[in-house]
Amino acid sequence: MFNILVLNCGSSSLKFQVIDMDGRKVLAKGLCERIGIDGSLTYENVRDGLAKVKTDLPLPDHKEAIKMTMNSLTDPAKGVLKSLDELSAVGHRIVHGGEKFTKSVMINDEVIAAIQEVSELAPLHNPANLAGIEACKAQIPNIPMVAVFDTAFHQTMPPRAYMYGIPLKYYNEMRIRRYGFHGTSHSYVSKAVAEHLGKKPEDLKTIVCHLGNGASISAVEYGKCIDTSMGFTTMAGLVMGTRCGDLDPGVMNYIMGKEHFDINRSSDILNKESGVLGLSGGLSSDFRDLWDARLSGNHDAEVALDVFIYNVAKYIGAYTAAMNGVDVICFTAGIGENDTRTRFAIMKYLGYLGITCDETANQVRGEITEISTKDSKVKVFVFPTNEELAIANETYDLVK
Ligand code: ADP
Repeated sequence: MFNILVLNCGSSSLKFQVIDMDGRKVLAKGLCERIGIDGSLTYENVRDGLAKVKTDLPLPDHKEAIKMTMNSLTDPAKGVLKSLDELSAVGHRIVHGGEKFTKSVMINDEVIAAIQEVSELAPLHNPANLAGIEACKAQIPNIPMVAVFDTAFHQTMPPRAYMYGIPLKYYNEMRIRRYGFHGTSHSYVSKAVAEHLGKKPEDLKTIVCHLGNGASISAVEYGKCIDTSMGFTTMAGLVMGTRCGDLDPGVMNYIMGKEHFDINRSSDILNKESGVLGLSGGLSSDFRDLWDARLSGNHDAEVALDVFIYNVAKYIGAYTAAMNGVDVICFTAGIGENDTRTRFAIMKYLGYLGITCDETANQVRGEITEISTKDSKVKVFVFPTNEELAIANETYDLVK
């Protein structure tokens, strides 16, 4: 038995899963929400197929949330552990590892200090991640813990991909550069698709399209990330559910001059009110709603979807050029795994690569499936991501 607790702490939330590494089975999963506000815990015993239960309870901080999570996991009626001794390790999702962390590491005081140091680069995320680590230290003090960074996989990018065209001093003094995010997912999918094809990652040029509410694309050449669409922040790259994606920096200067608002407001507009939500006039950030609206003749929904689809197609073109070719393209995350119509529309742009969509195969949702026709020159896959399992795998490899 080797049970790993995977933790993903946000500023007011905490997602968890317990994975039994013998067979890679999820035993339990859940979510603490509204930490520091009021609090609720949703818990599901997956192992015994028990129904999901949501309980309102006070969660003043992450420490209390971890304590309540542990109580659920060891509860005599609904728990999956007899005691916390049945946990072998904890894997923490850490959003930003700066330039310091190029792979997952065992957590010790030095690592905690280093995560703290780069917190400035992810002020909303890293402090929450650290709160999760501290809370675990208090509740289960001697358990081995591993930090798995969203940015680490992208650290292999060369300077030509990560440097911005601004004065060098901003890189030298503030470490302003492209970092990229969703690295755990890009790494997992690029490795797993190679394995699925009976190849090594070193044999393939792969483009991973992680298309969820947050979306990013990466170019993985022979197992190493050489470019990715997100940047210094998670706002860059593709137009997303509510984030703007790539934008002429002059646009915000102009709007701020006209409407006289501050940096916080501009950050809200670009993070929460833009993307396909903004483009559709506030209709929805969910692609199901947008397709429904488009089919009933809504012009703004049509343009929003077209902008997203065109964006993805352009990035695929750019990354094919960057790698001087591509062998495999993977669609993953909420839209990538489920949205037949968006995938089909993207693939219509890829004829020049010798890609044709197999429309029957493309009806699939959430299963590993080759959706290009057999005679296509580049293979296109729906390939579900599994960030929790990826974190558990990284943790297992280090702790074992
Ligand atoms: P994140 O983890 O970034 O919050 P997800 O990867 O869970 O996002 O993706 C959520 C998005 O996936 C939804 O907002 C929706 O746009 C899209 N989505 C989910 N299911 C479907 C579906 N059946 N058809 C089309 N889009 C879907």
